[in-house]
Amino acid sequence: MNFSNNEQVLSFVRARQVVEKLARRLKPPAAETVPLSRSLARFVAEPIRADRDFPPFPRATRDGFAVCSADLSAVPVRLKIVGEIKAGAEPESLRLLLPGDAVSIMTGAPVPPHADAVLMLEHTKPCADGSIEALRQVAAGENIVARGAEAGKNQLLLEVGTRLTPTGIALAASAGYSSIAVFRRPRVAVLATGDELVPVHAAPGPSQIRNSNLHSLAAQIELAGGEPVPLPIAPDDPRRLRELIAEAFEHDLALFSGGVSMGKYDLVRDALKEFKAEVFIGAARIQPGKPIVFGEAEAIVKEQSKRWADPEPSASSGGTPPHYANSARSGDPTAEPRRVLFFGLPGNPVSTLVTFELFVSPVVRALAGGEPAPLLFASARLKSELRVATGVTRFLPARLSGEPGRVEVECLAWHGSGDLVSAARADCYLVVPDDRERIGAGEEVCILIFGAELR
Ligand code: AMP
Ligand code: MG
Repeated sequence: MNFSNNEQVLSFVRARQVVEKLARRLKPPAAETVPLSRSLARFVAEPIRADRDFPPFPRATRDGFAVCSADLSAVPVRLKIVGEIKAGAEPESLRLLLPGDAVSIMTGAPVPPHADAVLMLEHTKPCADGSIEALRQVAAGENIVARGAEAGKNQLLLEVGTRLTPTGIALAASAGYSSIAVFRRPRVAVLATGDELVPVHAAPGPSQIRNSNLHSLAAQIELAGGEPVPLPIAPDDPRRLRELIAEAFEHDLALFSGGVSMGKYDLVRDALKEFKAEVFIGAARIQPGKPIVFGEAEAIVKEQSKRWADPEPSASSGGTPPHYANSARSGDPTAEPRRVLFFGLPGNPVSTLVTFELFVSPVVRALAGGEPAPLLFASARLKSELRVATGVTRFLPARLSGEPGRVEVECLAWHGSGDLVSAARADCYLVVPDDRERIGAGEEVCILIFGAELR
């Protein structure tokens, strides 16, 4: 693994392609059944089908009168009210209509046989004798959804891999699913590295900072469909770091924050070499987040990583070949070692947030049983001129304003990729292509909407 190898320093577009291609090859996890009330944001593992026609009867979509449209060929015309059908009415109560009859009907109620339209209440006038006057004509089928028009019985409603949104949950509920087979959530280890870090509940010394990345990553993992597994903070000490990396590799995906740049104490890349890491992305020409690393490494069983942690490994233990997680589990020493995907994310909090969104999210999503969702780009007009250096694709925290059809975007003043305060005020990121030095006020620009994972 070599950071300076140019082949691994990819453009933003290329790096994203690498991630998406790999994500598509991942196998879905095992399924489990959860109550419908716990299914939000999970990925459907078995097809959800219509248990009957949708709607199960011709449904009135307006309050008004069920009529035969032919009776209204010349209006105004008087119609006799011969009954009332409310939502939930039993089929026996549905009257046959004779010419000139109308049935008072409510939205959502079944339309009686022989009626072929619903005349809206607003288009009628009550008469003193209790009948009504129809003021407008109606076309056959107007204000009625035919039985089975939305879906026929057994029709597929939600396919495997669909993310359960509130709408999807409503659909599953309407088809009678009180519980749903969903894919198990992948367990994603989060290992923050750096001597300067303290946990959020500890009082930081004057030059210490709180481990906020653990919490942003945990939140992003959940949004992407995974289950975050926080690990203890790794100090800038190679032995302890290796030990914790080994622990991270016991999970479905390992995320490391910090320690991936080229500084003296950026130890993660070197430590990963010992896990036979193969690197797919060695860095990306983006800002923030350039030093991102994405690859796959061998999971090594605990005994082996403990041996590494031993200050003076004995000659005999040092010579023992490593054990691998799944061969140890299966008891078969010839089994292929288990390989685990990992991301090393630069430690600056905004870099961590941005690189997760750009590259980690599709992998978590795929491990959770979903398709990698495309990034949500949109366009807006830039409010004030922007000048930047070329060579990297930039993602600048920005805010939207304006109105539908004339959306404007403005970059927020910020102090670089450590500036969470400014990033927290952003509602999108302005994407500046790597060849643009200046973008004029009023020019159409590309923006990236964050936090749109629930789809
Ligand atoms: P590094 O990528 O390790 O060089 O870290 C760059 C900077 O990011 C550090 O100096 C910290 O200020 C900040 N940082 C690193 N890790 C974290 C973390 N887990 N939470 C918050 N800030 C961090
Ligand atoms: Mg560091």
